[in-house]
Amino acid sequence: LITIKNLWKRYGETVVLENLSFSIEAGEFCTLVGPSGCGKSTFLKMLLGEESPTKGLFLFEGKPFPAEPSAERGIVFQRYSLFSHLSVLENVMLGIELGASPLLGKLFGKAKKRAREEAIAMLEAVGLGDVLHHYPSQLSGGMQQRLSIAQSLVKKPKLLLLDEPFGALDPGIRADMHALILDLWKKNNLTVVMVTHDLHEGFYLGTRLLVFDKVRLDPQAPNAFGAKITYDIPLHDKKEKES
Ligand code: ATP
Ligand code: MG
Repeated sequence: LITIKNLWKRYGETVVLENLSFSIEAGEFCTLVGPSGCGKSTFLKMLLGEESPTKGLFLFEGKPFPAEPSAERGIVFQRYSLFSHLSVLENVMLGIELGASPLLGKLFGKAKKRAREEAIAMLEAVGLGDVLHHYPSQLSGGMQQRLSIAQSLVKKPKLLLLDEPFGALDPGIRADMHALILDLWKKNNLTVVMVTHDLHEGFYLGTRLLVFDKVRLDPQAPNAFGAKITYDIPLHDKKEKES
């Protein structure tokens, strides 16, 4: 799905990503760890289309990455991007409206009815079916994060990007979110790239753990964790997903 070859990203003099090469197959759940400032969020922004590479090959489905964010790729941040003056249901419907008609921003008639039904189904899938008409401020942190996930997934992205989505949640809630995200990944045929500060979380969730290190990006060199830059963790067999 994603091919990266000799990829460089610089901000002025600062080298953020140095000669990165690897690929991500459709259906993988990649978790990405690395020290603060090593370029994890920058990498996600590049996958989203908000940033472009300085140099190198960066392909999505064999073609250069679209320069603009699109519905194919959705993102969830640690800090939720929710509209406080809109209800839970309206927050998700807005996602569909913006995805469907970025210029018009509003859907009418049948399209609106369908958007509403899709939004309700998505909210039920993330366990928010009972709070459709609540406002974000009335929800717990975990529920707000479920809402952010629903907002992204309702646009049916192929690639879901998660930037430390569960970092602010307490451990019990985080375990529930792990179960939810694995369930959604399997059911929605998603490819996931998730940044986390928590190495255990990275090991637990990922079909593959990617380790970024500012100093050494040679895949053969051991990094700060004493491991290779990328390696496979056979926790979730992709075949399990297909069956
Ligand atoms: P953290 O774990 O703290 O979230 P990160 O791995 O996500 O860190 P990035 O946010 O990707 O790190 O930042 C990588 C480097 O690029 C940092 O040195 C940062 O200061 C720099 N950087 C990020 N965005 C910009 C920008 N828009 N302009 C200039 N420098 C930037
Ligand atoms: Mg970051």
